[in-house]
Amino acid sequence: MAKTIEIYDDRLRAIVSLDASLQKLANGAVHSEGPVYFHEDNTVVWSDAHGNRLLRWSPINDVSVLRDPSDYQSGNYRDLEGRLVACSSGLRAIIRREHNGEWKVLVDRYQGKRLNSPNDLVVKSDGTIWFTDPPYGITEQNQGYGGEQEQTGNFVYRFDSVTGEIYPVVTDMMRPNGLAFSPDESLLYVSDTAAFNIPGGPHDICVYEVVGDRHLQNGRVFAVIDPGQPDGFRVDKYGNVFTSSEDSVQIYAPNGTQLGKILVPETPTNLTFGGTEGERLFITAGHSLYAIDLNTRGVQQ
Ligand code: MG
Repeated sequence: MAKTIEIYDDRLRAIVSLDASLQKLANGAVHSEGPVYFHEDNTVVWSDAHGNRLLRWSPINDVSVLRDPSDYQSGNYRDLEGRLVACSSGLRAIIRREHNGEWKVLVDRYQGKRLNSPNDLVVKSDGTIWFTDPPYGITEQNQGYGGEQEQTGNFVYRFDSVTGEIYPVVTDMMRPNGLAFSPDESLLYVSDTAAFNIPGGPHDICVYEVVGDRHLQNGRVFAVIDPGQPDGFRVDKYGNVFTSSEDSVQIYAPNGTQLGKILVPETPTNLTFGGTEGERLFITAGHSLYAIDLNTRGVQQ
């Protein structure tokens, strides 16, 4: 059997068994992204981002279509009430599925101008939504409906859906994409995937200190991801960072040391923790959804 785990540092042995196997749960998507786990029924919802659909995997019913078209939904997450919140690259908005099943636009503007095309989001423990706003839904034909960029840059925003307050917390990245908080939410990791279509551009994860739950400071590069892009990533309870790359999910210790990688036969895009104990890593990659059991669990799902 082909090797799945590559180990660079012995600390990886406590995180994943070296004979752990990667399981392919589903395929058939044009381009899989943005998995989010539902513990109530052990299901995963994810975006067929280029296929303009929202899909759901269930161990009982296999794969079903939740939304078609999905307005190029990208990153997905759950809020404090368990509602699905998502980035709509097509609507250039943050959207939410209400308890009655209807989808609602929460925010689509900053200072009166349309957002670019929100790509990925996380919900902080205080309920605020932090999201990235690169221009991919405008510039890439298969990721949105096109249009003009109205914002002066590609920012990371903090949005309060209760008060409607929205403001940028990062303004100096080229193509902010994935993001995740450290276990105690004192740090925010944000990836820059500019190298995807800008020669010489960044392909790294930066880390910022969170100040007063509202602002970020002292940004620095946490890890340069090679080969490929850190499109999406998650943090486990020990603060280890699990990120997508060209050929694998790469795992980094909190100090930035690469511990190893989980090889995936298609290029990973995003990932999330799930499973009954939170110990399962679900990975969207290429046309498919994969899973692998770990000896750790996520702080965010
Ligand atoms: Mg992304």
